[in-house]
Amino acid sequence: MGLFKVSILGNGAAVPTARQHPSSQLLQHNRKKFMIDCGEGTQMQMQRFKFSYKNMAHVFISHLHGDHYLGLMGMISTFNLFSRQEDLHVYGPPELQDVLNLHLKVSDMHLKYELIFHELKEADLIYEDDRLEISCFPLKHRIPTWGFLFREKDKSERNLLKEFVEEFKPGLEQMYKIKQGADFITPAGVLMKNKEITYHPKPLSYAYCCDTVYDEELIPVIQDVDMLYHESTFDQKNEGIAADKFHATAAQAAALASKANVGKLLLGHFSARYKDRDVLLNEARPVFENTILSREGDTYQIG
Ligand SMILES: [Zn+2]
Repeated sequence: MGLFKVSILGNGAAVPTARQHPSSQLLQHNRKKFMIDCGEGTQMQMQRFKFSYKNMAHVFISHLHGDHYLGLMGMISTFNLFSRQEDLHVYGPPELQDVLNLHLKVSDMHLKYELIFHELKEADLIYEDDRLEISCFPLKHRIPTWGFLFREKDKSERNLLKEFVEEFKPGLEQMYKIKQGADFITPAGVLMKNKEITYHPKPLSYAYCCDTVYDEELIPVIQDVDMLYHESTFDQKNEGIAADKFHATAAQAAALASKANVGKLLLGHFSARYKDRDVLLNEARPVFENTILSREGDTYQIG
């Protein structure tokens, strides 16, 4: 179903260090880009990994702990210096709007573009285009926090089977007609029914759960998503600290992934104490095999 991928700009918890940046991700669906969280240093990470802001008009902020949003005002300011024209939509807890307004006021900054703020107050559909839906849902953390679910819409159009395309090499116009449901007649005059040469593409989905305690109430929300990014701030021996601080361990993230039957689990929001993160991976994998450690600068295909 086209391009659907997520790039990790930062996956560190709490404080920036020389080797890890606070939370931020760039999700790309077809031509559009969406930013999830914007920790300090996100602009530098965008440059370092050579991402552009082209077609990025939506930023989703999970909560107002500094490691998830302190890069936002800097980015808004840079956009102004670069004379951005396109609207920028920011989604976050209501207090974020006060924070942004105060910054704009004290620096007497008059934005050359429209900054449109969307308050997150309840689980809801918050964005929709013809191909994608984005909804928010509450997480359990020390302050109000939102998870985000990116879900492709079901298309009526069918996809061509690879073997068919390789064997018969249909032209563009013919491919378009087959996608709409047309049958195909081979050069030898044999009729191939549409169902034999196409399949119905499965809509793909991605969920972002950061920061949160281990919370089984999330299972119905993230059930069967193709990829889950879940925080894994601590290892098992720090399970008590994780619970006290409303964070989760890698094994807990894996347990949730398993119970929700997700396709792949991407771990992140690592405490700076783990110089070797394999300890987290080694605790998660026995619980949910299809687990990987997210890495800053890496891009993961969804589905
Ligand atoms: Zn937090």
